[in-house]
Amino acid sequence: AKLRVAIVGRPNVGKSTLFNRLVGKKLALVDDTPGVTRDRREGDGRLGDLNFSVFDTAGFEDVIDNSMEGRMRRQTERAIADSDVVLFLFDARAGVTPLDLAFSRLLRKSETPIVLCANKAEGKEGQIGAAGAWELGLGECVNLSAEHGDGMLDLYETIVDRL
Ligand code: GDP
Ligand code: MG
Repeated sequence: AKLRVAIVGRPNVGKSTLFNRLVGKKLALVDDTPGVTRDRREGDGRLGDLNFSVFDTAGFEDVIDNSMEGRMRRQTERAIADSDVVLFLFDARAGVTPLDLAFSRLLRKSETPIVLCANKAEGKEGQIGAAGAWELGLGECVNLSAEHGDGMLDLYETIVDRL
């Protein structure tokens, strides 16, 4: 069966940007229109010689309210259950937030391998923020710039290592 890779993380960390880069298409919307966001999007991803199905999780960008935590939990649990590897992104420019910590608590219980990624890690500001990754308690962190395409070889090697 084809390898399945899910991308999870709080809104605005760059999940859809990474999805688009892995799928190699521009057609997937980066900024989802509120209210029409589907819970997830699937595409054929590629990194070097690795081919996989990739899932972009979304669906709670539009409502930041009390229902968010439940939706977030369900979506994350589904991503864990349905995938061989989960890419967990945080925003290196924003640093680790309480919502990132909430995600990390869910993900630390997972038996599916988690690859922690600091996205938006380009530049000095990004490097500094990426250094806060230890707080998430998920081990080694891959520094990425989904927008610029930095860190893709590292991501490839880390995924292959965890399989
Ligand atoms: P999502 O909500 O997690 O799917 O995040 P998006 O992919 O929609 O990206 C949110 C914003 O972050 C957009 O304005 C992107 O252009 C921006 N972004 C994504 N990746 C990067 C990156 O590597 N560096 C920088 N500086 N911005 C990024
Ligand atoms: Mg998105």
